[in-house]
Formats: sequence, C-alpha cells, structure tokens
Amino acid sequence: MADHLIRATAAEGGIRVVGAITTRLTDEARQRHQLSYVATAALGRTMTSGLLLASSMKRAGSRVNIRVKGDGPLGGVFVDAGLDGTVRGYVDNPAIELPPNARGKLDVGAAVGHNGYLHVIRDIGYGYPYASTVELVSGEIGEDVASYLVTSEQTPSALVVGVFVEPDGATAAGGLLVQVLPKAARDESLVELLESRIGGLSGFTPLLQAGKTLPQIFEDLMGDLGLQVFSDTQLLRFHCGCSFDRMLGALKMLGEEELRDMIVKDDGAEAICHFCNEVYQADSDHLENLIEELKANALSNG
Ligand code: ZN
Repeated sequence: MADHLIRATAAEGGIRVVGAITTRLTDEARQRHQLSYVATAALGRTMTSGLLLASSMKRAGSRVNIRVKGDGPLGGVFVDAGLDGTVRGYVDNPAIELPPNARGKLDVGAAVGHNGYLHVIRDIGYGYPYASTVELVSGEIGEDVASYLVTSEQTPSALVVGVFVEPDGATAAGGLLVQVLPKAARDESLVELLESRIGGLSGFTPLLQAGKTLPQIFEDLMGDLGLQVFSDTQLLRFHCGCSFDRMLGALKMLGEEELRDMIVKDDGAEAICHFCNEVYQADSDHLENLIEELKANALSNG
C-alpha cells in the first residue's frame, strides 16, 4: 500500500483528525541515509509529524520545517514537509544505535536526548514564516510535537507517531493527529474523552500491524462522535528538490578563486545533499564553465 494521508472531522466539525501511513517513505529515508534502527525511528516519527502538521495549512506550496536538537548522541533531526505530501529529512549521526528502553522499544528519547529544543517553522510561501520553539518534553518526538501544538498554537491536541523497524527495514510507520478546535474546546469533557482514548492507544504501529486502515482507526477512536471521513486520499512520498543544476548554482556562489582551487586540487568537485544523501559530481569542465559564466556576469555588470 502506498503511503497516504486521510482527514476526517467529528463532533460537528469541532474535532479535526488526520492520519498518515508513512512506512515506505520512512524506509526510503533509512536506505538513503543508512540509518540505524533508532535513527530510523527518530527520523520517521519526525517526518510523520511534519506531514501531519503541514496537512492543516491552506495555501498551496506551504511547508513545515521541524528541527529537533537534543543533548543525545543522535545530534539534530531535520525535516522539511509539504502540504503537497512530500517530505525529506536527515539526522546528524545516522549510525548511532542504542539498546531498547525499559518497555523493549527503540529508545528514541535517549538517542535524541531528553533536554533540548523543538523548533517549528511554518512557511506559507510569502511574507515572514511563523517560527516557534519549545523545550523537549521527552525527546520521543510525539510528545514534543504535541507540546508544541498545545503551547505555541494553543489547540488541545493529541498526537501519536510510531515506527516499527525490523532487520530488513521499516515495516510499519505512521501517525495520528487529533485536534479540538476552539468551538468544541470549551467542552472540557470532550477534550478529556479524546485525551483518554488517544492515551489508551499502545502506540500507532500495532494498529497497522493488526491490519487496520486509517478510516477503521478513526472509526474505532471516535465513531460514536459523529465521525465524517473525507473521501480524498493524499499520497505521501520522500522527495527532495535538489538537482545537479542547483548544486552547480551553489558552487558558482563560491566564486572564481575557490573554483580554480577545486580544479587544481581535486580535478572537480563533489557535493552531497544533506536532505537526501544524493551525491553530485562536477568535473573540471563544469567548473570551468561556471568560471566563464562568472566572468561574463562581471563584464555585463561592469
Ligand atoms: Zn537532495
């Protein structure tokens, strides 16, 4: 089944629900970055969170960037997710592995670190992006993003994200975001009811492993609350907008002297995209062309 996202509402529009299945894109990230088990879980959870957050934005081209910076051995986690269903991301130290935690699960909290910050930038494509930072709650990602939603966006929210990794890769990944909108948030019993139901889930991946679809998961959680599942399904995928031409553009900005240096010392240049680990090779001819372009620009500007 292809990765996808589905939206629903309940309680006459007072509750907003979004679910995402992200197994394939998480495994693509694992393969591209050669992620360890725990790094796969950390990045998969963060990418899923990014897609869930981006799904509430309205304007085409909107994106959400999440930076998680804790004091654990994994270093930073960086994700860029779009309303269009594309996502990319990386971690600083992809090879870090840790023993399972006390519950026998991948210890994402220890890998990320329990102390540090979660930084979220919402960019609607024009004007100033909206940025906000919260302290990490646990480094487990789900709780940290939920804390961001409650403190920065002041929307009662419950979020579950999960990644299950086996020796041959990520075999189940996804998440669920439930938000109580202002008109229903005054109904405290409704907020409590939802919190207890979401809190009662023993994670998200067991639901997928039990063969549940997103509409079935929604139904189980709030079928009695006037659930309405939207029929449009959005496909999700790992995608990076980098290209050879963009890499050349970045090299050109280094200037003639630096480019000459690369030709003499390395007979070319190699650039690796942080986000997707794609390797781009520029040979001396490419670099000579860039120098010619710089000279032509200088003449026309002079
Ligand atoms: Zn890339």
